[in-house]
Amino acid sequence: MTDHPPARVIYLGGLGRSGTTLLERLLGELPGVVALGEVVHLWERGVLAQELCGCGAAFPACAFWRAVGERAFGGWTTSVAGRVLTLRRRVDRTRRIPRIAHPDLAEYARAYQTLYAAAGAPVVIDSSKHASLACCLVAAGADVSIVHVVRDPRAVAHSWGRTVERPEDGRPMTRWGPARAAVHWTAQNAALELLAGRGARVIRVRYEDLVAAPVATLTRLAHGLGLAAAELPFIDGSTAWLGPSHTASGNPMRFHVGRVELRRDDAWVSGLAGRDRRAVDLLTWPLRARYGYRSAA
Ligand SMILES: [Zn+2]
Repeated sequence: MTDHPPARVIYLGGLGRSGTTLLERLLGELPGVVALGEVVHLWERGVLAQELCGCGAAFPACAFWRAVGERAFGGWTTSVAGRVLTLRRRVDRTRRIPRIAHPDLAEYARAYQTLYAAAGAPVVIDSSKHASLACCLVAAGADVSIVHVVRDPRAVAHSWGRTVERPEDGRPMTRWGPARAAVHWTAQNAALELLAGRGARVIRVRYEDLVAAPVATLTRLAHGLGLAAAELPFIDGSTAWLGPSHTASGNPMRFHVGRVELRRDDAWVSGLAGRDRRAVDLLTWPLRARYGYRSAA
Protein backbone atom coordinates (compact mmCIF):
# COMPACT_ATOMS: atom_id res chain seq x y z
CA MET A 1 0.00 0.00 0.00
CA THR A 2 1.43 3.40 -0.94
CA ASP A 3 0.49 6.85 0.26
CA HIS A 4 -1.33 9.24 -2.06
CA PRO A 5 -2.47 12.75 -1.27
CA PRO A 6 -5.95 12.57 0.24
CA ALA A 7 -8.84 13.29 -2.12
CA ARG A 8 -11.69 15.63 -1.31
CA VAL A 9 -14.80 13.52 -1.12
CA ILE A 10 -18.27 14.49 -2.23
CA TYR A 11 -20.63 12.01 -0.65
CA LEU A 12 -24.14 11.73 -2.08
CA GLY A 13 -26.58 10.79 0.66
CA GLY A 14 -30.29 10.05 0.68
CA LEU A 15 -32.66 7.17 0.09
CA GLY A 16 -32.31 5.23 -3.17
CA ARG A 17 -34.54 6.29 -6.12
CA SER A 18 -34.00 9.95 -5.26
CA GLY A 19 -31.85 10.83 -8.27
CA THR A 20 -28.40 10.28 -6.75
CA THR A 21 -27.08 8.32 -9.75
CA LEU A 22 -28.10 11.07 -12.18
CA LEU A 23 -26.59 13.74 -9.95
CA GLU A 24 -23.38 11.75 -9.58
CA ARG A 25 -23.03 11.35 -13.34
CA LEU A 26 -23.57 15.09 -13.93
CA LEU A 27 -21.06 16.17 -11.27
CA GLY A 28 -18.64 13.50 -12.50
CA GLU A 29 -18.37 15.37 -15.82
CA LEU A 30 -16.71 18.35 -14.13
CA PRO A 31 -12.93 18.67 -14.54
CA GLY A 32 -10.90 17.15 -11.72
CA VAL A 33 -13.87 15.14 -10.47
CA VAL A 34 -14.17 11.36 -10.71
CA ALA A 35 -17.43 9.54 -9.99
CA LEU A 36 -16.82 6.21 -8.24
CA GLY A 37 -20.42 4.99 -7.82
CA GLU A 38 -21.70 3.36 -4.65
CA VAL A 39 -18.37 2.44 -3.05
CA VAL A 40 -20.13 0.78 -0.11
CA HIS A 41 -21.16 -2.02 -2.52
CA LEU A 42 -17.84 -2.22 -4.40
CA TRP A 43 -16.32 -4.76 -1.99
CA GLU A 44 -19.05 -7.32 -2.47
CA ARG A 45 -20.47 -6.63 -5.93
CA GLY A 46 -17.26 -5.49 -7.64
CA VAL A 47 -14.37 -7.32 -5.97
CA LEU A 48 -16.13 -10.54 -4.89
CA ALA A 49 -19.04 -10.94 -7.36
CA GLN A 50 -17.09 -9.33 -10.24
CA GLU A 51 -20.12 -7.40 -11.47
CA LEU A 52 -19.91 -4.81 -14.24
CA CYS A 53 -18.23 -1.45 -13.92
CA GLY A 54 -20.13 1.53 -15.33
CA CYS A 55 -17.83 1.35 -18.39
CA GLY A 56 -19.31 -2.06 -19.25
CA ALA A 57 -16.26 -4.15 -18.37
CA ALA A 58 -16.37 -6.70 -15.58
CA PHE A 59 -14.89 -5.13 -12.46
CA PRO A 60 -11.65 -7.20 -12.51
CA ALA A 61 -11.16 -6.37 -16.22
CA CYS A 62 -11.66 -2.61 -15.86
CA ALA A 63 -8.30 -0.86 -16.24
CA PHE A 64 -9.41 2.06 -14.06
CA TRP A 65 -10.34 -0.11 -11.09
CA ARG A 66 -7.36 -2.41 -11.57
CA ALA A 67 -5.04 0.60 -11.25
CA VAL A 68 -6.95 1.95 -8.23
CA GLY A 69 -6.74 -1.45 -6.53
CA GLU A 70 -3.00 -1.72 -7.19
CA ARG A 71 -2.34 1.75 -5.81
CA ALA A 72 -4.61 1.37 -2.81
CA PHE A 73 -4.14 -2.21 -1.65
CA GLY A 74 -1.46 -3.76 -3.85
CA GLY A 75 -4.30 -5.34 -5.89
CA TRP A 76 -7.86 -6.49 -5.20
CA THR A 77 -8.03 -9.63 -3.12
CA THR A 78 -10.87 -11.47 -1.45
CA SER A 79 -9.15 -10.84 1.88
CA VAL A 80 -9.16 -7.03 1.37
CA ALA A 81 -12.87 -7.11 0.46
CA GLY A 82 -13.67 -9.61 3.20
CA ARG A 83 -11.97 -7.50 5.84
CA VAL A 84 -13.87 -4.34 4.83
CA LEU A 85 -17.16 -6.27 4.82
CA THR A 86 -16.45 -7.61 8.31
CA LEU A 87 -15.69 -4.09 9.55
CA ARG A 88 -18.81 -2.79 7.82
CA ARG A 89 -21.04 -5.22 9.70
CA ARG A 90 -19.54 -4.06 13.00
CA VAL A 91 -19.38 -0.31 12.41
CA ASP A 92 -21.50 0.90 9.49
CA ARG A 93 -25.09 0.38 10.68
CA THR A 94 -27.97 2.85 10.65
CA ARG A 95 -28.80 1.98 14.25
CA ARG A 96 -25.24 2.91 15.32
CA ILE A 97 -25.49 6.48 14.00
CA PRO A 98 -26.34 8.08 17.36
CA ARG A 99 -23.22 6.48 18.92
CA ILE A 100 -20.88 5.81 16.01
CA ALA A 101 -17.65 5.49 18.05
CA HIS A 102 -16.21 1.97 17.74
CA PRO A 103 -12.69 0.48 18.01
CA ASP A 104 -12.86 -0.58 14.34
CA LEU A 105 -14.13 2.74 12.98
CA ALA A 106 -10.69 4.13 12.07
CA GLU A 107 -9.67 1.01 10.11
CA TYR A 108 -13.00 0.90 8.29
CA ALA A 109 -12.89 4.58 7.28
CA ARG A 110 -9.22 4.26 6.30
CA ALA A 111 -10.07 1.61 3.69
CA TYR A 112 -12.39 4.14 1.98
CA GLN A 113 -9.96 7.02 2.32
CA THR A 114 -7.16 4.89 0.84
CA LEU A 115 -9.39 3.97 -2.09
CA TYR A 116 -10.50 7.59 -2.65
CA ALA A 117 -6.87 8.78 -2.67
CA ALA A 118 -5.89 6.04 -5.12
CA ALA A 119 -8.54 7.18 -7.64
CA GLY A 120 -6.03 9.72 -8.90
CA ALA A 121 -8.31 12.80 -8.88
CA PRO A 122 -8.39 15.81 -6.57
CA VAL A 123 -12.13 15.29 -6.01
CA VAL A 124 -14.02 11.99 -5.93
CA ILE A 125 -17.73 11.29 -5.67
CA ASP A 126 -19.03 8.40 -3.61
CA SER A 127 -22.77 7.92 -4.15
CA SER A 128 -23.14 5.21 -1.47
CA LYS A 129 -26.19 7.12 -0.15
CA HIS A 130 -26.30 5.51 3.31
CA ALA A 131 -26.21 8.05 6.13
CA SER A 132 -24.30 5.54 8.28
CA LEU A 133 -21.24 5.52 5.99
CA ALA A 134 -21.31 9.33 5.78
CA CYS A 135 -21.35 9.34 9.57
CA CYS A 136 -18.34 6.96 9.72
CA LEU A 137 -16.34 9.15 7.32
CA VAL A 138 -17.16 12.34 9.21
CA ALA A 139 -16.36 10.76 12.59
CA ALA A 140 -13.00 9.53 11.23
CA GLY A 141 -12.08 13.06 10.14
CA ALA A 142 -12.28 12.55 6.35
CA ASP A 143 -12.43 15.65 4.14
CA VAL A 144 -16.01 15.02 3.09
CA SER A 145 -18.82 17.24 1.83
CA ILE A 146 -22.22 15.59 1.96
CA VAL A 147 -24.84 16.33 -0.67
CA HIS A 148 -28.17 15.37 0.84
CA VAL A 149 -30.53 14.52 -2.01
CA VAL A 150 -34.24 14.50 -1.18
CA ARG A 151 -37.19 13.60 -3.34
CA ASP A 152 -40.93 13.60 -2.75
CA PRO A 153 -41.53 10.46 -0.64
CA ARG A 154 -44.63 9.56 -2.69
CA ALA A 155 -42.47 9.41 -5.84
CA VAL A 156 -39.78 7.46 -3.99
CA ALA A 157 -42.31 4.96 -2.60
CA HIS A 158 -43.85 4.50 -6.06
CA SER A 159 -40.42 3.85 -7.56
CA TRP A 160 -39.55 1.26 -4.89
CA GLY A 161 -42.76 -0.60 -5.77
CA ARG A 162 -41.86 -0.98 -9.42
CA THR A 163 -40.15 -4.01 -10.92
CA VAL A 164 -36.79 -3.01 -12.35
CA GLU A 165 -34.30 -5.47 -13.78
CA ARG A 166 -30.65 -5.22 -12.80
CA PRO A 167 -28.53 -4.94 -15.97
CA GLU A 168 -25.72 -6.67 -14.06
CA ASP A 169 -27.46 -10.05 -13.83
CA GLY A 170 -31.05 -9.67 -15.07
CA ARG A 171 -32.45 -10.21 -11.58
CA PRO A 172 -35.10 -7.82 -10.24
CA MET A 173 -33.93 -5.00 -8.01
CA THR A 174 -35.17 -4.94 -4.42
CA ARG A 175 -38.82 -3.89 -4.08
CA TRP A 176 -40.41 -2.32 -1.02
CA GLY A 177 -44.03 -1.65 -0.19
CA PRO A 178 -45.07 2.00 0.33
CA ALA A 179 -44.97 1.88 4.15
CA ARG A 180 -41.53 0.32 4.23
CA ALA A 181 -40.19 2.82 1.69
CA ALA A 182 -41.67 5.65 3.77
CA VAL A 183 -40.04 4.41 6.98
CA HIS A 184 -36.66 4.14 5.23
CA TRP A 185 -37.14 7.61 3.69
CA THR A 186 -37.68 9.10 7.12
CA ALA A 187 -34.80 7.18 8.71
CA GLN A 188 -32.23 8.12 6.07
CA ASN A 189 -33.26 11.75 5.85
CA ALA A 190 -33.45 12.16 9.63
CA ALA A 191 -29.96 10.64 9.96
CA LEU A 192 -28.54 13.06 7.40
CA GLU A 193 -30.25 15.94 9.24
CA LEU A 194 -28.56 14.72 12.42
CA LEU A 195 -25.16 14.85 10.72
CA ALA A 196 -25.81 18.41 9.59
CA GLY A 197 -26.80 19.26 13.15
CA ARG A 198 -23.47 17.88 14.37
CA GLY A 199 -21.59 20.32 12.16
CA ALA A 200 -20.80 18.13 9.12
CA ARG A 201 -20.72 19.98 5.78
CA VAL A 202 -24.10 19.14 4.28
CA ILE A 203 -25.77 20.75 1.26
CA ARG A 204 -29.33 19.73 0.54
CA VAL A 205 -30.67 19.37 -2.99
CA ARG A 206 -34.22 18.53 -3.99
CA TYR A 207 -34.55 16.19 -6.97
CA GLU A 208 -37.53 18.24 -8.16
CA ASP A 209 -35.38 21.40 -8.30
CA LEU A 210 -32.65 19.53 -10.17
CA VAL A 211 -35.01 18.42 -12.95
CA ALA A 212 -37.00 21.69 -13.04
CA ALA A 213 -33.93 23.94 -13.32
CA PRO A 214 -30.91 21.69 -13.93
CA VAL A 215 -28.32 24.34 -14.79
CA ALA A 216 -29.27 26.75 -12.00
CA THR A 217 -29.49 23.99 -9.40
CA LEU A 218 -26.18 22.39 -10.39
CA THR A 219 -24.45 25.76 -10.59
CA ARG A 220 -25.55 26.55 -7.05
CA LEU A 221 -24.44 23.12 -5.90
CA ALA A 222 -21.08 23.31 -7.69
CA HIS A 223 -20.39 26.69 -6.10
CA GLY A 224 -21.26 25.29 -2.70
CA LEU A 225 -18.81 22.44 -3.30
CA GLY A 226 -16.06 24.66 -4.70
CA LEU A 227 -16.28 23.08 -8.18
CA ALA A 228 -16.04 24.76 -11.61
CA ALA A 229 -19.69 25.13 -12.57
CA ALA A 230 -18.78 26.67 -15.93
CA GLU A 231 -17.93 23.18 -17.21
CA LEU A 232 -21.36 21.63 -16.61
CA PRO A 233 -22.12 19.14 -19.43
CA PHE A 234 -25.34 20.72 -20.77
CA ILE A 235 -26.31 20.86 -24.44
CA ASP A 236 -29.39 22.93 -23.67
CA GLY A 237 -31.36 23.85 -20.56
CA SER A 238 -32.60 20.33 -19.88
CA THR A 239 -30.32 18.04 -21.89
CA ALA A 240 -26.91 16.92 -20.69
CA TRP A 241 -24.21 14.77 -22.27
CA LEU A 242 -22.66 12.01 -20.22
CA GLY A 243 -19.36 10.39 -21.10
CA PRO A 244 -18.29 6.91 -19.98
CA SER A 245 -17.80 6.43 -16.26
CA HIS A 246 -16.35 3.84 -13.91
CA THR A 247 -19.07 3.79 -11.29
CA ALA A 248 -18.66 0.57 -9.34
CA SER A 249 -22.30 0.06 -8.38
CA GLY A 250 -25.58 1.92 -8.57
CA ASN A 251 -28.83 2.00 -10.48
CA PRO A 252 -29.01 1.11 -14.20
CA MET A 253 -28.57 4.77 -15.19
CA ARG A 254 -24.85 4.40 -14.41
CA PHE A 255 -24.32 2.58 -17.73
CA HIS A 256 -25.84 5.36 -19.85
CA VAL A 257 -23.54 7.21 -22.24
CA GLY A 258 -24.68 10.11 -24.43
CA ARG A 259 -27.63 12.48 -24.23
CA VAL A 260 -29.78 12.47 -21.16
CA GLU A 261 -32.87 14.60 -20.77
CA LEU A 262 -33.72 15.80 -17.30
CA ARG A 263 -37.43 15.82 -16.77
CA ARG A 264 -39.73 15.36 -13.87
CA ASP A 265 -41.20 11.89 -13.35
CA ASP A 266 -44.64 12.24 -11.79
CA ALA A 267 -45.78 8.67 -12.45
CA TRP A 268 -46.66 8.33 -8.78
CA VAL A 269 -49.53 10.83 -9.09
CA SER A 270 -51.61 8.30 -11.02
CA GLY A 271 -49.65 5.17 -10.04
CA LEU A 272 -49.78 5.30 -6.24
CA ALA A 273 -53.13 4.22 -4.76
CA GLY A 274 -54.91 6.70 -2.48
CA ARG A 275 -54.49 4.62 0.68
CA ASP A 276 -50.78 4.13 -0.04
CA ARG A 277 -50.35 7.85 -0.61
CA ARG A 278 -52.03 8.62 2.70
CA ALA A 279 -49.83 6.07 4.50
CA VAL A 280 -46.69 7.58 3.01
CA ASP A 281 -47.90 11.10 3.88
CA LEU A 282 -48.37 10.08 7.50
CA LEU A 283 -45.12 8.14 7.88
CA THR A 284 -42.94 10.86 6.37
CA TRP A 285 -44.31 13.83 8.31
CA PRO A 286 -42.84 16.24 9.53
CA LEU A 287 -39.68 15.96 7.39
CA ARG A 288 -41.80 15.84 4.24
CA ALA A 289 -43.31 19.21 5.12
CA ARG A 290 -39.88 20.61 5.99
CA TYR A 291 -38.71 19.81 2.45
CA GLY A 292 -41.79 21.42 0.92
CA TYR A 293 -43.76 18.31 -0.09
CA ARG A 294 -47.36 19.05 0.77
CA SER A 295 -49.95 16.46 1.74
CA ALA A 296 -51.99 15.06 -1.09
CA ALA A 297 -55.49 16.47 -1.28
ZN1 LIG B 1 -14.61 0.74 -15.68
